[in-house]
Amino acid sequence: MAALEFTRRYAMAHRLIADPTGKCATPHGHNEFVTVRLAPQHTFVFSATNMDAAFDAVKGRWHAWIDDHVDHALQLNAADPLIGFFREHEPYRLARLMVFPGDPTTEALAAVFFLKLSAFLEADQLPYRVEEIRVEETPTNAVRLNRVLFDPARCGVAADHWARRPDMSINDFSRVMA
Ligand SMILES: [Zn+2]
Repeated sequence: MAALEFTRRYAMAHRLIADPTGKCATPHGHNEFVTVRLAPQHTFVFSATNMDAAFDAVKGRWHAWIDDHVDHALQLNAADPLIGFFREHEPYRLARLMVFPGDPTTEALAAVFFLKLSAFLEADQLPYRVEEIRVEETPTNAVRLNRVLFDPARCGVAADHWARRPDMSINDFSRVMA
């Protein structure tokens, strides 16, 4: 098998509150690209189909999640008081908030992408694993995470966190409120 690579574009907004004086503390947005590289579990062997899984089977759930849930979401630190604003005034928009442990930096986004895609691949029993996530925040800034730089088992996110679940979630509000 060969490695697979695909790219998706989305728009997002976020703000970083850990440094309240920084210009990133004001809500703002980026048009970003996420490129994922998947490594096969076995080496390539010629066969009738010459593939182990159709490209669409591998991309399907991932791109549906990016298009329908990540695109135009507002990314916030779980400690951001804006969450309280939405809870009180616009609770119907809570589903559009993508919530992070700590600031929603591009690094943190790459990490939750890594976890979510890994959960999708495992749930669909696809013979690939995530090798690298690259998030292009602007044409001149990008973040890469790979298995040398990121260990899903030791990243400090709980086993039942939304990023580890193979569903379409981008936060855990429905669990907390249920
Ligand atoms: Zn930004």
